[in-house]
Amino acid sequence: MPTPILVLNCGSSSVKYQMIDVDTEEVLASGLIEKIGLAFGNLTHTTQGLLYRIDETIKDHTEALALVTRAFDLWGPSLSTVVAVGHRAVHGGERFRATTLITQDVIDGLTDLSELAPLHNPPGIAGIKAAQKMLPDIPHVAIFDTAFFSTLPPEAYTYAIDHDTAVKYHIRKYGFHGTSHSYVSKKAAQFMERDLEGFNQIVCHLGNGASISAVQGGVAVDTSMGLTPLAGLVMGTRSGDVDPGLFSYLQREAGMDSQEVDALLNKQSGLSGLADGSSDFRDLWDKIDAGDEHAQLAHDVYVHRLISYIGSYMAVLGRVDAIVFTAGVGENANRTRELIIARLNGLGVRLDPERNTPRNKVPTLISADDSSIAVLVVPTNEELAMARETFQVIN
Ligand code: ADP
Repeated sequence: MPTPILVLNCGSSSVKYQMIDVDTEEVLASGLIEKIGLAFGNLTHTTQGLLYRIDETIKDHTEALALVTRAFDLWGPSLSTVVAVGHRAVHGGERFRATTLITQDVIDGLTDLSELAPLHNPPGIAGIKAAQKMLPDIPHVAIFDTAFFSTLPPEAYTYAIDHDTAVKYHIRKYGFHGTSHSYVSKKAAQFMERDLEGFNQIVCHLGNGASISAVQGGVAVDTSMGLTPLAGLVMGTRSGDVDPGLFSYLQREAGMDSQEVDALLNKQSGLSGLADGSSDFRDLWDKIDAGDEHAQLAHDVYVHRLISYIGSYMAVLGRVDAIVFTAGVGENANRTRELIIARLNGLGVRLDPERNTPRNKVPTLISADDSSIAVLVVPTNEELAMARETFQVIN
């Protein structure tokens, strides 16, 4: 008897969905709605190897979810078989430390947290409300990007700022991409045939957004993203770490207001800002191969920041059993992985060039047999992790 779960990931202008049978882990259907709120929106729906498409204006998340219903009605499978819906909720703040059944009280809590995540939580809430109307008779569950990092010790999550201000405004490191770090760290231990308890790892989630975590015996002890998903590694369009003094400097010297500084650091920075608009590693490498100095510097900064974090987390963990790469860049960009590991040679970490192939679709060991630390590529699967978590909560 199949147990289909619908997982939904609502962004400000997009909705991603998958219907997954948690018994077999088979993806029964998947889809993407883009350009919500713009003149020309579209939906693509894939099931049983066939791709379908609808082009029309999609005003808001209510219309987007109505379109999802229409896609399932037209092309299947039937939504009537779905046992629960799992919603990606980006910011759980201090309150939501685990996957939670959604009640009105939870929606109110998420609404209160919108100030901490103004870009992410409001579309998530709009998606929850619309999906509850669409499927009113089954449980809806929220999976928080921050939950995996609720185990960080105080010395890792506390910023060294005035205590009262921090308490009043809930200022601390929360961490993001938790569903991926959790899934990948468990998979890595399984792949290495090690008990999670004794296994220490550094997980590098390198996608368009990027974050790194130190995981000790399955428990997250540090991570690079902070109060917001802007901190830490260099990303596609986000700066990652900068001197906090930069904010007032730009306000003073460049006359920028807080929204302009926010836009600069979130949307016009990172690889894109350094390499004249190239945020994708495929473009970046094409430019590097053509001798583009800006692209070269962007890549150098990216690698430098990443190995600085790896070194820091080696110290935090004391002993590291594995460095694990995941997400779009981590799984595919073998040339970038090679340069990262080359910088760690002095610490005895060595790659096996034959094993370091592009596009790893299954967990793979890419380090040499004499490497001091195992290096792995473990493909992430946030949708499957969300479906499993949802199933656990409703049981
Ligand atoms: P997100 O989920 O954060 O949007 P992904 O994890 O899907 O991001 O990663 C997207 C990024 O992965 C792209 O921007 C690109 O830089 C990188 N990427 C994807 N495919 C490849 C590839 N074949 N080679 C190198 N980099 C790739």
